[in-house]
Amino acid sequence: MEMKKFFDESSRYIMNTYNRFPVVLRKGRGMKVWSSDGKEYLDFVGGVAVNILGHCHPRVVVAIQKQAQRLLHVSNYYYIEPQIKLAKLLVEHSFADKVFFCNSGAEANEAAIKLARKYSKEQISPKRFEIITAKNSFHGRTLAALTATGQEKFHKGFEPLVPGFKYVPFNDINAMSKTITKDTCAVMLEPIQGEGGVKLPDHDYLKEVRDLCNEHNILLILDEVQTGMGRTGKLFAYEHFGITPDIMTIAKGLGGGVPIGAMLATDKVASAFQPGNHATTFGGNPLVCAAAVATIETLLEDGFILDQCNRMSKYFREKLEQLMEEFPSLVIEIRGKGLLLGMEMTRDGDPIVRACLEKGVLINCAAGNVLRFIPPLIVQQKDIDRLIDVLEEVFMKFS
Ligand SMILES: *Cc1c(COP(=O)(O)O)cnc(C)c1O
Repeated sequence: MEMKKFFDESSRYIMNTYNRFPVVLRKGRGMKVWSSDGKEYLDFVGGVAVNILGHCHPRVVVAIQKQAQRLLHVSNYYYIEPQIKLAKLLVEHSFADKVFFCNSGAEANEAAIKLARKYSKEQISPKRFEIITAKNSFHGRTLAALTATGQEKFHKGFEPLVPGFKYVPFNDINAMSKTITKDTCAVMLEPIQGEGGVKLPDHDYLKEVRDLCNEHNILLILDEVQTGMGRTGKLFAYEHFGITPDIMTIAKGLGGGVPIGAMLATDKVASAFQPGNHATTFGGNPLVCAAAVATIETLLEDGFILDQCNRMSKYFREKLEQLMEEFPSLVIEIRGKGLLLGMEMTRDGDPIVRACLEKGVLINCAAGNVLRFIPPLIVQQKDIDRLIDVLEEVFMKFS
């Protein structure tokens, strides 16, 4: 009865933008969440790659409690202690020299697009404004980030889009090369396409893109909103590919569960922003920055969690590959890095996701037929074993 009331009130009062599963989640700890009717779930979605330290990690919770008692919000008219501390941590552990804080992945990408345009117009040529992105990419839902997203299904109904974007197939360096003109100011890519179905770059692709950008004096923007914060086994995914971007955006895992985004850049590029050029009221808010500081400090402590991520990734992949061998008619391919893993299926993934939910395991499906596993980086062997058992039972029904 209680559940029905939640569903009714939700559809009565909340805009109809999400297809929700019939579960009300009320409590979480580590790898587990509990619904309002007391059922326990093992969580391999982790708030879509947000809860990198699991649900309600004690260090994050304590940092939030302490900060909440001290200071919740002040304007960026003033200096904010946890914001400075967070920026320093990010700069010390990345290619970047400067950070701009915002509140989501889409907003971080908006900031990146604005910075790339302003820098290029002022420093290279006033005609430069075009940004090349990849087909099948995902960069968020605000208008420019949506336009950057190379998938028509997300554009439909929202035209006219923002001028100045061109799309090329991911992993096609010749197409990229041909699309660059004297008006191109930047290339914007996810190092691994997440929402697009966990698609990895070919071995040298990102290096070739970097070289092309250098040759034409074009900025490289990497959208690490999903791949950043240890998700792929390194703090940032670009570290796997022997390159650095000029601009990088992060969000999802950054706050360990609180909404925060950031746009990072080299000094050279960042200098295009002066007071008044860009801002957001909540950006770098004390509460979320305190949570993010606790998250990064925990993540980097002795490299323990990154090691764990890599060990579990290896184990997870082996188990998924065994499943693939067992169900060749259902599984096409296993892909991914770290704990961003995808299993491409020969069929629609949604019924599989629903069957897993019934059996108490949360998974997600991207691009229609790719089961995506993005658990907290604290996931353990026993959790993976349980997921694999459930997948095996479910696959049995569908094969
Ligand atoms: C989730 C995601 C975004 C959008 O982030 P929001 O916080 O939902 O705005 C942008 N880029 C990538 C790669 C993402 O995975």
